[in-house]
Amino acid sequence: MIIVLKENAAKQQIDDLSNQLSDYGVKVHSIEGTETTVLGLVGDTSAIDVETIRLNDIVDKVMKVSEPYKRANRKFHPNNTVIDISDDISIGGNKIAIMAGPCSVESQEQINAVAKAVKSSGATILRGGAFKPRSSPYAFQGLKSEGLLYMKQAKQLTGLPIVSEITNPYYIDLFNEYVDIIQVGARNMQNFELLKELGKVKKPILLKRGFSNTIEEFLMSAEYIISSGNERVILCERGIRTFETYTRNTLDLSAVPVLKKMSHLPVVVDPSHASGIYWLVEPMSLAAVAAGADGLIIEVHNNPKCALCDGAQSLTPENFDDLMKKVKLVAKAVSREV
Ligand code: PEP
Ligand code: MN
Repeated sequence: MIIVLKENAAKQQIDDLSNQLSDYGVKVHSIEGTETTVLGLVGDTSAIDVETIRLNDIVDKVMKVSEPYKRANRKFHPNNTVIDISDDISIGGNKIAIMAGPCSVESQEQINAVAKAVKSSGATILRGGAFKPRSSPYAFQGLKSEGLLYMKQAKQLTGLPIVSEITNPYYIDLFNEYVDIIQVGARNMQNFELLKELGKVKKPILLKRGFSNTIEEFLMSAEYIISSGNERVILCERGIRTFETYTRNTLDLSAVPVLKKMSHLPVVVDPSHASGIYWLVEPMSLAAVAAGADGLIIEVHNNPKCALCDGAQSLTPENFDDLMKKVKLVAKAVSREV
């Protein structure tokens, strides 16, 4: 249940109403907007009489929420959530965030070269995998903590904040020390123990949609993180499994406006894993920006033919530079900036 309060509601009146509601055994979360305060009730609200709540002087509207996710729900938080990554970079505002870098960190030289190249083309966040969840146990598994160290040095070199994927709660201290955004990969979207632990950290979480998960399941995973204490969740659509085999996955572009409608959280798109083919990354990126994405996360490699992971979908720095020019034009057409 969501209770929107009147603009003039005084703090004491809000506290009294919250206490009255808590007596029903529900958790009351208060969100203070610029003009109004919204109370979000989580738990079994069946014993609460909506008409009685409406009688309260400070209550403007009472809405029953049918969706099982509450704190990720836009009804709970009508304004877009904007997540600050550094002093001058945020995700979810008018400016579209561009995250770019290799699938995997392979060496200090490689990550430095890619970081410098993507920065000069306009990327504002560096991506790079260090712990790789590969389908085959025989495939390159990533440089692990050494890879994170190389990422941190590339950050020192370029000033780009970094995003990297965590696969296990055991590594949380390491990620807290090294990265600016912690990525949860598609394969771990429903690793609920990991999500609950990430709810206890202060860093923003880039949560990727599982390739066989519905939008509601995706938002319930965000709910796990938020309800455990971390509200800084960025949703990432990265393609889902369909009957189509030409592409690696099928980019569910309609998920972007649906997620924006249902949730206040920022939504970014990964056109690289969605398509699996480098020349599809540009049209899918442009379509994602046109559809309202708040950011893109794109794989870029200085030598895709020799990449240890996902070379076929990686852009060269030159291709990425061309793409950025077009992204800027599409962003302008939909009144956004890059
Ligand atoms: C990745 O970003 O490198 C990755 C493994 O992505 P996903 O979890 O979407 O497959
Ligand atoms: Mn990859």
